[in-house]
Amino acid sequence: MKLGGQRASHNVEDRRGMGVVGGGLGVGGIVIALIAYFLGFDPGAVMQVQEQAASGGTRQQGQMGAPADEPGQFVSQVLGSTEDVWGRIFENSGAQYRPPTLVLYDGQVRSACGMGQSAMGPFYCPGDEKLYIDLAFFRDLHQRFQAPGDFAQAYVIAHEVAHHVQKTTGAFGKMDAARARGSRAQQNQLSVRMELQADCYAGVWGAHAGSMQQLSPGDIEEGLAAASAIGDDRLQKQMQGRVVPESFTHGSSEQRSRWFKRGLESGNPGDCDTLSAASL
Ligand SMILES: [Zn+2]
Repeated sequence: MKLGGQRASHNVEDRRGMGVVGGGLGVGGIVIALIAYFLGFDPGAVMQVQEQAASGGTRQQGQMGAPADEPGQFVSQVLGSTEDVWGRIFENSGAQYRPPTLVLYDGQVRSACGMGQSAMGPFYCPGDEKLYIDLAFFRDLHQRFQAPGDFAQAYVIAHEVAHHVQKTTGAFGKMDAARARGSRAQQNQLSVRMELQADCYAGVWGAHAGSMQQLSPGDIEEGLAAASAIGDDRLQKQMQGRVVPESFTHGSSEQRSRWFKRGLESGNPGDCDTLSAASL
């Protein structure tokens, strides 16, 4: 990526090196976290289970503003780019974009959705409108999932930001209501639709980043490789040796990279309507 001209966002909260006050995850919590990780990103529903166990601790507040170190700067600039892009898209439809806060942490973190753990991968908590990222995940993305590159990392950030966009547009609320009524299989289906929309929205951001001359040759391929690397089928095969499509919560590798590409090619969030699409 070429982010030299991009302002860094100040909506970054640095909790690295702070640890967690008030106890960590019990054994049960760790097991749940590993299952969530296995499923991919955003173990929001799983984390609610842990909320009780985690409550009663002290509230944490990290340093606000763009961190000075290189990875911190990178994350802040990507976040700044998403703010500029979504700010304009919202403005064009007569609305105002309320940007989320990105929390950097290491190991464990307390969120309004419960305790987060780096093994879960990055996640968005609608309760406090913050995205939580342990930068160690980017190393995993490179080494374990073989998806290297700065744009692969930016895609992950843009995907979590997309969940925030879904919250502000009300998609999250609608999905929660439908999820509460549905069977497990229907709930998984809904989750896949939300995740593919987030991938498509990440692509929409990528399209605008391209117009702002922020992409380097090879970036698109990096992003597509990352979307594909964290598909449910690929992850399931890697971790349990078989694929169970009914248990997909994020979509297959093919679906994830295809919807990401769709957003990249169109640049228009209106083309990301996975919620009512007849086929995914
Ligand atoms: Zn997601």
